[in-house]
Amino acid sequence: MKLSNLLRTILSIIFFLSIAVASNQQAITILGKSNVVLGKADILKQNQYYVSVNDLGKIIGSGSFVNEKTEKIVIYLDSFKIKLSYNIPFIIVDEKTYQMESSVIKKNAEYYVPIDNFFNILSTHGSNSFSIDYGAMSIAFNSNIKKEIPPIVVTDLTAEKNKWKFNTIIIDPGHGGKDPGAIGYRGTREKDIALDVAKRLERKISKNMNIKTILTRDEDIFLKLGERTRFANENNGDLFISIHANAAEDRRASGFETFLIGPNRNQAAVRVAARENAVLELEGGSAQKLTDEALITATIAQAGFANFSEQFAALVQEEMGKRIQSKNRGVKQAGFYVLMGASMPNVLVELGFISNPTEEKKLRSPKYRDTLATSIYRAIEKYQKTLDNN
Ligand SMILES: [Zn+2]
Repeated sequence: MKLSNLLRTILSIIFFLSIAVASNQQAITILGKSNVVLGKADILKQNQYYVSVNDLGKIIGSGSFVNEKTEKIVIYLDSFKIKLSYNIPFIIVDEKTYQMESSVIKKNAEYYVPIDNFFNILSTHGSNSFSIDYGAMSIAFNSNIKKEIPPIVVTDLTAEKNKWKFNTIIIDPGHGGKDPGAIGYRGTREKDIALDVAKRLERKISKNMNIKTILTRDEDIFLKLGERTRFANENNGDLFISIHANAAEDRRASGFETFLIGPNRNQAAVRVAARENAVLELEGGSAQKLTDEALITATIAQAGFANFSEQFAALVQEEMGKRIQSKNRGVKQAGFYVLMGASMPNVLVELGFISNPTEEKKLRSPKYRDTLATSIYRAIEKYQKTLDNN
């Protein structure tokens, strides 16, 4: 009897210890004034520690408010209003934008931020009330950080559990009219290649799929960059594909690539965006430069469907790679003005380098252009399937 009691005690100690160890590995203790334990926040360890925004909001803030459709998160912490978006490295504190080294990540419907970045930004913004101790796995707050709950208007909280609707595709042949785009060695004009591939693509979709397809231009006319996305938005597009051909100083440059809008990280991608944005000069007085701030705002605005744009971009590269004898340059991101205002998943496809004599020759072939159109068409088909399966 005595022995079994002892055994039971030992077993229960082991049991509780194992819980303590397990939870220790996954949580960081939040301490308040005089080191009072306020609670434990979930953490994830990847290349660095991430802490659950939801828990921070609960323990030291006034809760977290998540718009499940756009995956934007608002938390009130230390009297600051903090806005975050899933998969985006930007953080807005009281309407001021900062950039973290990594994006907000998600696990089991909870959102996590890199701890160091997050608190350093708060500190930069003017909070001096905390210290992080990785040895003790704790974050200590020295001030009364729990504030009164501000009045919050939560709009659009209805989780859109349905698949992303997919009724209308907007195809945007780049350039046109007084803007020829890039011009090849043999005089091939980017605007003609883009329009031809766009029309072929439109015919393939109309023939085989039950999806409405609209071209931003179906003839050789000039359109401002901003008009293209406005047109797409007004027509309730569910996917926006801008079609272009590339050019480079180096005649040897070749291959096809697909671009997403995003912070400028890659110099080559920035050059492509600069070339594609150059038409703004032709637009006259209304042209506005794409500032870093505008780009950040646009990236945040697209956070709700950025993963759809990424998925589609990857499919375009994959399908082109299967059919085209040219270099697969992959998916990249940069500040493309034409993609900025799109309120739907969007990509910009560069079919090939018109500045490369060999590739220009290929692009001049109707058969080659048809293969390009088929590739994008197949990508659309696959994209639709992934939406059905979501
Ligand atoms: Zn172009």
